Amino acid sequence: TPVIYWVRRDFRLSDNAALVAACEAGPVVPVFICDDIVEAQGGAPKFRLGEGVRVFAEALEAAGSRLILRRGDALAVLRDLVAETGATSVVWNRLYDPVSKARDTAVKAALKDDGIGADSFAGHLLFEPWTVETKTGGFYKVFTPMWKLVRGRDVAAPLSAPKINAPGDWPASDLLDDWGLGDAMRRGRDVLTAHICVGEDAARDRLGDFIKNRVQRYDTNRDLPSVDGTSRLSENLTYGEISPRTCWHAGWAAIHDGKPDAETFCKELVWREFAYHLAHHTPRIIDQNWKEGWDDFPWNTEETAEVTAWKQGRTGIPFVDAAMREMYVTGTMHNRGRMIVASYLTKHLMCHWKIGQAWFEDCLIDWDPASNAMGWQWSAGSGPDATPYFRVFNPVSQLEKFDRGGNYSRAWIAEGQGTPTDTSLAYFDAIPKSWGLSPQDKYPRPIVDPAQGRERALEAYKNRTF
Ligand code: FAD
Repeated sequence: TPVIYWVRRDFRLSDNAALVAACEAGPVVPVFICDDIVEAQGGAPKFRLGEGVRVFAEALEAAGSRLILRRGDALAVLRDLVAETGATSVVWNRLYDPVSKARDTAVKAALKDDGIGADSFAGHLLFEPWTVETKTGGFYKVFTPMWKLVRGRDVAAPLSAPKINAPGDWPASDLLDDWGLGDAMRRGRDVLTAHICVGEDAARDRLGDFIKNRVQRYDTNRDLPSVDGTSRLSENLTYGEISPRTCWHAGWAAIHDGKPDAETFCKELVWREFAYHLAHHTPRIIDQNWKEGWDDFPWNTEETAEVTAWKQGRTGIPFVDAAMREMYVTGTMHNRGRMIVASYLTKHLMCHWKIGQAWFEDCLIDWDPASNAMGWQWSAGSGPDATPYFRVFNPVSQLEKFDRGGNYSRAWIAEGQGTPTDTSLAYFDAIPKSWGLSPQDKYPRPIVDPAQGRERALEAYKNRTF
């Protein structure tokens, strides 16, 4: 009898424990369900998810299988498929954000009540959240001790891609294009299409290229937004087009090959784990201040003109504006940029981190519920192991430090330049006409004086009641 493999954020054939288990049990019916959780995603992530589904469906076809697409409530769809195919079990790889976990727990219980097997497997993380404990038995709220604990752990080798047997009859499938997953984007789909790198093969090539050519200078170059110094694998890890285990093993192999900077790469992978472990143990990190007391902090929560300027890359602070435009056009932003624009929004502009979190969720092709929430709360000061609130990044000196020749800001800011770069002009092609912006505009003066913004933030912090 067939087994249903419920595909979610695991668009890969190799190192896929649920798929291996399904293949060992019988013919496999892979299904992707467009449910409320998928529908609720922001514009760019939903578009990118759709491209992931498309390429994974092709990979399954090439392996003699198919990807069945269905829309609706996950449990109802799975029950329909069980009835249509005669399957006696459903398998999937686990997710750890609170919304997915609540759904999955309910689905598992209901299927079991129906007498259907329901099994979940590890694969989205290196370490299951309940397997990493402090000496006193709790979870880690600070990154460095967690890193020290796990860095020497044995991580099993990635699993090979299994041979997938097809069922005698295939159930009906929706057409992906009918779902319109790219329709909610503000920008045309061709804007992001030029920047995405989709699928398991592409992800594997990306990892190989990074390990071969860039990891040896990772410690220095990873902080420079104008240098292609990082792996860019967040996009693929988010959709499970490559497993963290595959990346981890490639990292340690590079260390043995005399590329010590690869240890920092492995450490960054553990930041991703840290975010998910926190989301698992303290789900409030996703949508509430993680630290007690911050609810009374005088954040602005309105869509003010300053918020609009921040979103549109028109704050008059070149590092902030360059990074915001880079994200709008490419769907990604360098980590240094993310830290600076987040610090600027939450401190210089005193705006709630949830405003930034939501805008990132709408714009990023590597949007990840746990890393995005942790990144915002870390920057705002309300999160675990956060940068102390009084540490306000100076966006001007950061530019001098991390973009010394000005290449990064020139790449993204056209205003005031005799011969603007193609990338800086691409921004004006990508944004909606309704924003009323043109490369011939004058570059704005800072909407908030950096020194005054800093003082205002520190004053509010000093006067807090918690
Ligand atoms: P590399 O430098 O090559 O690192 C390798 C991998 O390690 C990354 O692909 C990523 O999976 C992980 N990683 C690296 N840094 C971090 C980090 N600080 N936190 C968690 N994981 C990390 N990352 C996302 O994947 N999705 C998000 O939605 C997201 N939102 C963020 C929001 C803010 C405000 C901040 C400050 C950071 C956010 N990050 C997010 C983390 C980080 O910026 C990106 O993971 C990184 O820039 C991705 O580039 P890369 O793949 O080239 O990373």
